[in-house]
Amino acid sequence: MSKLMSVDEAKEKIISVFEPLGMENISIEKAIGRVLAQSVFSEINLPLFPNSSMDGFAVRSLDLEGISREYPAQLEVVDDIPAGKVSKVIVKSGQASRIMTGAPLPQGADSVIPVEDTDQFQHGRQSQILPSRVKVFRSVQSGDYVRQKGEDIRSGECVLPQGKRIRPQEVGLLAMLGMSDIPVFKRPRVAIISTGDELVPINKALEPGQIYDSNTYSLSAQVLRDGGEPFNLGIASDRESAVIEVLEKTTSSRVDLILSTAGVSVGAFDVVKSVVERFGRIEFWRVNMRPGKPVTFGHYQNIPFVGLPGNPVSAYVSYEIFVRPSVYRLSGMETFEHLRMPVRLLDPVESDGRESYLRAIVKRQTGNWTAQLTGHQGSGNLWSLVQANALLVLPSGVKSLPSGSIIDALLLNEVY
Ligand code: AMP
Ligand code: MG
Repeated sequence: MSKLMSVDEAKEKIISVFEPLGMENISIEKAIGRVLAQSVFSEINLPLFPNSSMDGFAVRSLDLEGISREYPAQLEVVDDIPAGKVSKVIVKSGQASRIMTGAPLPQGADSVIPVEDTDQFQHGRQSQILPSRVKVFRSVQSGDYVRQKGEDIRSGECVLPQGKRIRPQEVGLLAMLGMSDIPVFKRPRVAIISTGDELVPINKALEPGQIYDSNTYSLSAQVLRDGGEPFNLGIASDRESAVIEVLEKTTSSRVDLILSTAGVSVGAFDVVKSVVERFGRIEFWRVNMRPGKPVTFGHYQNIPFVGLPGNPVSAYVSYEIFVRPSVYRLSGMETFEHLRMPVRLLDPVESDGRESYLRAIVKRQTGNWTAQLTGHQGSGNLWSLVQANALLVLPSGVKSLPSGSIIDALLLNEVY
C-alpha cells in the first residue's frame, strides 16, 4: 500500500488554495460573527472628555490635604452635574460640585470624592436634594476617580485589525466609535452534498435498511458556526449520474467550496471520487488519519472540493481538521487552530498507528487536567462525540498509551 499523506501536509494543501473573499458593508446589527475586511482606526478619543467614575463631588485635591474622618473638610456645593450636562460653574478653592458617574468634570476641579466618603451618604443612598454644603472625610490625589480624555483609546489609534472576527465586545466598541456600517469579508458559500442509497431526508418515513441523512445537518451547522453560508444540495444516490446531477447545481451559482460526504472509500458503490476525477481533478485521496482516512481533495470543474468520509464522526472530525481552517481563510481570517492543551489520560488508549482523534471528556480533577474516553470509538457512534468536549490526538506511529500518560487534547466546546 502506498504511503498515506500526513494530516499536516493534507491540511496545508487544502488551505493553500483559498484566499479571502471580497468585502461588503453591513449594518452593525448584523456584524456579529463576521470578519473585519479593513482595520478600524479611531477618529475620536475615548473617553471623549474627562468624566467622573463615581457618584460624588468634584473637588480640588489641594483643598483636601490632610483631611480624615477626625478632621473633615467642609466645602460649599456650587452646582449639580448629572451625566450629560456640561457645568458652567468653575469650582474654586473651598467649593465642590455634586457630580454623577459619566458626567463631565467641571473646570477648576481635578478629582472626585465618592459620596460614600462624605456626610451625604446615609442609609446606603444620597438625597436627591442638592445640599448647600458637604462634609468630606478623606483626602484625594489629583486625578482620583476621574476617567481622563483618551485614556482608553487615542484618536488615530488602530483599535481593531483587519481579519478579526467580530464578537459582542467588538460590536460595542464599533458603536462607541459611532460606526453603523461595518466593512466585512463576504461569507463563504459552502455547498453540501450527501451521497448514499440508504439515506433518507429527515422529513420522510424510513423503510427497512434506510437511515436518516444526518451529515447534511451537522456539516451545515459547522459551516454556520464558522461564519459560512451552507447551501444544502440534498442527497445523491450511489450512481454516477445522480452525483453528477447534484454536483452540477454548484456551477450555476456562486459556490466557494463543495463538501460531500460518503462514497469516497473503496466500496463497490463509491462513485464520488471517480466523478470528481472525470469533471475536474483529484489532488489527493486518503490521509494518515483515524477517523478520516478516505478524505479526498480536488476540484469539481474549478470549484475546490473536499470529499469527507460518510461515517458521522469521521465527517465531523475531518471537517474540524481540514475544512474549518479553510472556511476561516475564505472568511478573511489567517487560519484556525483549536485550543490545544496537554492532559493526563485516565484510560489506556489504543489505535492502529494512524494519527488518531479520540473522543474524550477533559476536566480538572484534583488540580490536574484529565481526559476520559467517551464510549466506544466506532466512527458511526455520534453519541460518543455528543458526550465529548475534546479530541485527544494520538500521534502517527503511536499504537497505544497507558493510563497516566500525557496527551494533547483539542478542545471542542468553544467558539472562537
Ligand atoms: P460510505 O462512506 O458510503 O461507505 O459510508 C460510511 C457509513 O456512513 C455508512 O454506514 C453510511 O450509511 C454512513 N453515512 C453515509 N452518509 C451519511 C449521512 N449523510 N448521514 C448519516 N450517515 C451516513
Ligand atoms: Mg455509501
